[in-house]
Amino acid sequence: MEIKRGIPVSPGVAIGLAMVLDTEGVRIPRRAVEPQFISNEITRLRAALEAAVLEARERQKEITDRIGKQVGSIFAGHAMLMEDPELVRDIENSIKQKSYSAEYAVSQVMRRQAKALESLNQPVFKTRANDLFDIEKTIIRNLVGEESEPLSNLRNPVIVLAHDLTPSETASLDPKMVFAFATEAGGRASHTAIMAGMLEIPAVVGLGRFLTDISGGDEVIVDGNRGVIILNPDDDTRDRYREAQQQIGSHTRRLHELRDFPAETEDGVRVTLLGNIEFPQEGQHCLDRGGDGVGLYRTEFLYCNRVTEPSESEQYDSFMTVLRAMGNKRPVVIRTLDMGSDKLFYPWDKSQDERNPSLGLRSIRLCLRNLTLFKKQLRAILRASHHGDIRIMFPMVSTLLELRQCKMILAEVKEDLEDEGIPFNRKLPLGTMIEVPSAALMAEEMAKEVHFFSIGTNDLTQYTLAADRTNETVASLYSPGDPAVLRLIDHVIKAAHKQRIDVSVCGEMSGDPIYTMLLLGLGLRQLSVTPQNIPEIKKLIRSVTLDEARTVAQEAMRFDTAREVNNYLRERTRRILPEVVDLSGMGRN
Ligand code: PEP
Ligand code: MG
Repeated sequence: MEIKRGIPVSPGVAIGLAMVLDTEGVRIPRRAVEPQFISNEITRLRAALEAAVLEARERQKEITDRIGKQVGSIFAGHAMLMEDPELVRDIENSIKQKSYSAEYAVSQVMRRQAKALESLNQPVFKTRANDLFDIEKTIIRNLVGEESEPLSNLRNPVIVLAHDLTPSETASLDPKMVFAFATEAGGRASHTAIMAGMLEIPAVVGLGRFLTDISGGDEVIVDGNRGVIILNPDDDTRDRYREAQQQIGSHTRRLHELRDFPAETEDGVRVTLLGNIEFPQEGQHCLDRGGDGVGLYRTEFLYCNRVTEPSESEQYDSFMTVLRAMGNKRPVVIRTLDMGSDKLFYPWDKSQDERNPSLGLRSIRLCLRNLTLFKKQLRAILRASHHGDIRIMFPMVSTLLELRQCKMILAEVKEDLEDEGIPFNRKLPLGTMIEVPSAALMAEEMAKEVHFFSIGTNDLTQYTLAADRTNETVASLYSPGDPAVLRLIDHVIKAAHKQRIDVSVCGEMSGDPIYTMLLLGLGLRQLSVTPQNIPEIKKLIRSVTLDEARTVAQEAMRFDTAREVNNYLRERTRRILPEVVDLSGMGRN
């Protein structure tokens, strides 16, 4: 038995037989051609490119119908790149000047570009190199006349193990036939990771070398909650996981029964439980799991993997999709573009050249430097606000001045719409994320400027502890349960209450059940969590009284290390709902 650790990108546990994808990827039949065949190679190349573009567009259509527009647009990006005259010229020149076969020329040019991206040594660029590999494979498959991906024709359910999966391969996975997948390469923000989440296939990526230790048909366990895979598990481990799987299954079914009940404490205090979404289709996921609305719509995914910005009407359509899923009644908090640092990039985003992008020109700072882009998004949000309970929120605000600038721009956009006679909600609630320590410390002043706060504990933890949220080597420092972070949260909640504005938490902390009592006890009555976590957090809320939660919060605030805080909270949560804590170590979904 061998255990490997990687990055969990899609939750769930699966036990099954391995299907190992060959790491070669593409077959290049010959490297060079005789000079008299060069024009023939060019003709073959053009025909293959045409077929590959067609394939990418068909895939875009199919994926848009099956998963959603944003994921589909990844393949629109592929098609556009394959039609890029510069790229085509590069490949054709390779054939003409070096007598390369069309396959070899494609491979050389695409890999040179991928290498250039990888050498920038930034995770976001590295993940885009995988898209180039995908494109290379598609063109070469069309050149050699091979059928489509082997993954789309599986006869028995498997666990797919590969060096990396291209976005096309991931999109072709059928959740009924692929229990899970695990890859040696890949990162949190890759298209492959995003798609795994959307398809709800348990997945672990970035495992490092392991394919040499396993053969097709061997048994594997993929634990997408903890980011662990177990190759050839021993009997004990397999039994434990099987038991956990069963418990998780019945636990999930029990939780599902709470769908139509309110998130209300035992003594009748109502908590608004909202969902965090990245794609418009996920609005429905929040409702299906019993949420009250959308507390955070991360709009950056509208901008990803595109050569041009999304238009105002495209953005408006996405917001309307979410709003419609909410029956135009439930709240939808739209966060303006939070691009940069660990977030997906778009090609015109120069912040990627920075040495320290988390502290650089990212997020709201970027929008305030690019008013055309910012105003376009504000217009789309305002227009959608006419049709339902839309609220707007600014990310990464670090000073009052910045917040006031945002408000000024918003007022200008409102004025423009007014002049044009375009309707919008004049009372559109306005909020700010509190995710930078300076904003937390200035919370009282900030609270006078807005209608609500949403505490972003992912970034607040990162910036308070100076520990990169994506860097595994400093993961032991990174805990939202650290007393320094808790004191800031407490301060922000008190400031919001003093100014009588709403306050919620939307970082991952709010979806981790060990923090639920603490957050309620500190005075929060609104949480926004990953849709998958809604049922569990609701269950916990419904199992405690406010007095209990207050006692837990008071105790937790007395500790002076994150370890003590977390141990205490885990223990208190276990006393109330043992299965939530016990299953969270293994296969909680
Ligand atoms: C946060 O920082 O806690 C947050 C919710 O925003 P994101 O994870 O998108 O940075
Ligand atoms: Mg954030």
